[in-house]
Amino acid sequence: MRKTFIAGNWKMNLSKQQAITLANQLKQQYQPLENRQIAVFPAFVYLDAMQQILQDSSLEWGAQNCADKAAGAFTGEVSVSMLQDFACKYVLLGHSERRHVYQETNAMIAEKFTLAQQAGLQSVLCVGETLAQREANQALEVIQRQLDAVLDLPIIEATATPNWLIAYEPVWAIGTGKTASPAQAQEIHQQIREYIGKNNGNLAANLRIIYGGSVKAANAGEILAMEDIDGVLVGGASLKIEEFLEICKCNNSY
Ligand code: PEP
Repeated sequence: MRKTFIAGNWKMNLSKQQAITLANQLKQQYQPLENRQIAVFPAFVYLDAMQQILQDSSLEWGAQNCADKAAGAFTGEVSVSMLQDFACKYVLLGHSERRHVYQETNAMIAEKFTLAQQAGLQSVLCVGETLAQREANQALEVIQRQLDAVLDLPIIEATATPNWLIAYEPVWAIGTGKTASPAQAQEIHQQIREYIGKNNGNLAANLRIIYGGSVKAANAGEILAMEDIDGVLVGGASLKIEEFLEICKCNNSY
């Protein structure tokens, strides 16, 4: 059974004090639920505070990005091993803002993925099409190319059980208030699972595919009810404690 994964991507938001307050509120108010994992992704500079606040709780944390090199003269970059110094369990890779604002390529993301896997850090690989690509009926093709960059890596063959996740995030739904309908999201999630299943049935059955794009308390339930949707990646709504707590508890059947 695939455990539901609820993640809050705080992006480049919050002051240090606000991040500390939000993490403390989450820790105090979230009642751990079986079969559910909750993780937050703060800015790099708040990871130290997350470790201190969340380490003795059921809550997990990760980084929003990492370098595509292991170490060395790469000014401004943050390596996988640095993330591990703050006990990060996860790293978001290929978020649409990284792909589209900072021009990250599939090849760069594949490098990052390999480094993360080698270190035992779980990647949340973000994939998704732009509105123009969807309207040109290219959504699946674009997503398959984004997936191939990782699925073709030799390190994938070595992983019997998936220690990484996929986040399907249609670019047109991120931070726009437009959400893919549950049926639209389910359709792509199912296609992703089928595509992976062509070469690796075990991976397809066990890999968690979460949805992101303007998820809020009001729509999380119907999205999480879809068969191939194993969680949600939440941006804006994860900054509001009441809203995020609602999402964390949503559709809990245990
Ligand atoms: C995101 O940052 O991954 C995201 C989905 O943002 P939002 O929920 O604000 O659309």
